[in-house]
Amino acid sequence: MSNIIELTALTKIFPGGIVAVDNLSLNIKEGEFVTLLGPSGCGKTTMLRLVAGFEIPTKGQISLAGEDVTELPPYQRQVNTVFQDYALFPHMTVAQNVGYGLRVAGIAKKDIGKQVSEALSMVDLLEKADNRPGQLSGGQKQRVALARALVRHPKVLLLDEPLSSLDANLRETMQIELKHLHQRLGLTFVLVTHDQTEAMVMSDRVVVMEEGRNVQSGTPTELYDHPASAYVANFLGNSNMIFGRVTAADKNGATIDFENGAVRSFLDGASLTLGEMASVSIRPEKIGFLVDGETAPEGFNVLTGTVHDCLFQGNVIRIEMNLDIGRDTPFFVEVHLRSTVSRSAIPQPGTRASVAIDPHCVSVFPADEPR
Ligand code: ATP
Repeated sequence: MSNIIELTALTKIFPGGIVAVDNLSLNIKEGEFVTLLGPSGCGKTTMLRLVAGFEIPTKGQISLAGEDVTELPPYQRQVNTVFQDYALFPHMTVAQNVGYGLRVAGIAKKDIGKQVSEALSMVDLLEKADNRPGQLSGGQKQRVALARALVRHPKVLLLDEPLSSLDANLRETMQIELKHLHQRLGLTFVLVTHDQTEAMVMSDRVVVMEEGRNVQSGTPTELYDHPASAYVANFLGNSNMIFGRVTAADKNGATIDFENGAVRSFLDGASLTLGEMASVSIRPEKIGFLVDGETAPEGFNVLTGTVHDCLFQGNVIRIEMNLDIGRDTPFFVEVHLRSTVSRSAIPQPGTRASVAIDPHCVSVFPADEPR
């Protein structure tokens, strides 16, 4: 598949010297669903606005479908944007809202009706064509905004936090709808969000941004299972972070010593320095809580500790443990126990317990990451 978007060394500096996007390069393939993910202020929206043509880069180049569009105005680019607040005209019907861009572009009236109907069927909203936005639910308004963006057949659909004003349940439904719409249309989608679940559920590829830079990009599972830094590990999903000293490290793994005990990792430890401090990241669901005298599989790390709290959360039981690895300072970890476990196996606070951790599930990063 060829690249539909090529962003080369893009930099955007706003007046006052604010660097919103910092020398960022990224290629997006035709038909891909790519999400720009990061905390508020990391430059996601500015990136999207640069691609849409609402901002001109300070440096760098933007190419769309092989054409250099860096200096072109938005209406000459084959992209369309869906905004967070939908930006629908309240006095127009759904059909008029969707057809607005076509009327402005001077398309013949008879063609407008046909194209509007096609776009409304794509989002399953044909029966609401004569309603006004005020008569629609949040999710329906979002679908009108989508239909309006799709009606002119853009090559790329840009979505700026499109689900952020919906409540949690509707948001989940719309995430799946958007993903299915993408699969049906085969268009290229570029989404901006600060919501990691949204990014993981919908995207083929996620680009994690920090201070205007692309710090890691990959499929959701690549990023979740093999985060390249503590920042990415923390941003995507929950992770236990514990700190220790590197006593062995090479590309096949590492050993991290604590005040009392050690853990072994079988993931690449080549970026670590012997004798330096490191952050050890372990996902809660990758930690096995040893129930009723169970033993750990061969080669696993086994750590002991005291149960601090135990929270029944329906699908999982979250156990907070104070590990013995810190002689003076407590090390808390969160462990997820399947809720199908016998209720009598749920530990009480104060119980002594052991956990088993597969060395393939232990990520280790330099504690102070070089920029
Ligand atoms: P959010 O999730 O809060 O929308 P974001 O990751 O999308 O954040 P941007 O909106 O791209 O971040 O902003 C990146 C940086 O650029 C921020 O420091 C912001 O204050 C700054 N910025 C954005 N737009 C402008 C502007 N028009 N003028 C000056 N500074 C701006």
